[in-house]
Amino acid sequence: TTVPTLTLNNGVAMPQLGFGVYQVPDEEATATVRAALDAGYRSIDTAALYQNEVGTGRALAESRIPREELFVTTKLWNTDQGYDSTLRAFDASLERLGLDQVDLYLIHWPAPKLDRYVDTWRAFERIYSEDRTRAIGVSNFQPAHLARLFEASGIVPAVNQVELHPRLQQLAVREFDASNGIATEAWGPLGQGKGGLLEDPTLTQLAAKHGRTPAQIVLRWHIQLGNVVIPKSSTPSRMRENIDVFDFRLDADDMDSIAGMETGARGGPDPDVLS
Ligand code: NAD
Repeated sequence: TTVPTLTLNNGVAMPQLGFGVYQVPDEEATATVRAALDAGYRSIDTAALYQNEVGTGRALAESRIPREELFVTTKLWNTDQGYDSTLRAFDASLERLGLDQVDLYLIHWPAPKLDRYVDTWRAFERIYSEDRTRAIGVSNFQPAHLARLFEASGIVPAVNQVELHPRLQQLAVREFDASNGIATEAWGPLGQGKGGLLEDPTLTQLAAKHGRTPAQIVLRWHIQLGNVVIPKSSTPSRMRENIDVFDFRLDADDMDSIAGMETGARGGPDPDVLS
């Protein structure tokens, strides 16, 4: 499978579909990431919070895949926000990953009550200017958080990674991102396996119509919306299933039926509240 890339606002190409490693224990991360690389994934999404940067980095090194063919994302955890603490936390992430550069570094949450994301972003701009990450971005930022960042700083984030799936379609965030040249990346793209999303009749009917699985229907919907998507699975057959979404198309009626699934219910925290 060849995964298409999206061109970020600084010209860097990012695979539109990658592999997320949230909740993969470090001691399993090497085997899990190796299986994902074998299935054809080249973009890996980790975070300091996940405590699996060591195992992830080991899989990347052992794979012998040329570094320029890989796209590695990691994230700064909330308790490390602030200018100096961000610089230290980034050094520690690189060290754990065994890399001298990542492809994308994200502020994991705005944590507005902490009120340090502007200083944090200044440190991100420095790390970017030193070429130790090829792009910088944010995660879980609402338009108001981004607007504040624009006022206070120079570089527009390349990516905003937010919870996004058929029940939480994030229309306002997607429109705000798009109008500012920011790529929207979907976390929990399959609804995190919660709430029976993949058994929803709208999806099972579309799956039957296309001879695909409900997970493939949802991932194809993300791709056609223009989202970057990073599904997670620990099961190699599902890893292969989730990347195999580039040889069919949903028609306008299919896209409309999925649009009708919005409930607005978050599976994860509210970005205005979590700190
Ligand atoms: P997801 O939507 O990718 O769901 C993963 C779960 O869905 C699996 O554990 C499994 O139960 C199920 N699943 C996967 N493939 C399936 C298939 N083909 N058929 C049936 N069930 C299947 O949820 P996620 O892992 O939370 O999100 C993806 C990635 O996003 C994470 O691994 C992480 O990298 C990132 N993430 C980021 C944030 C953030 O705050 N930035 C938060 C959560 C997750």
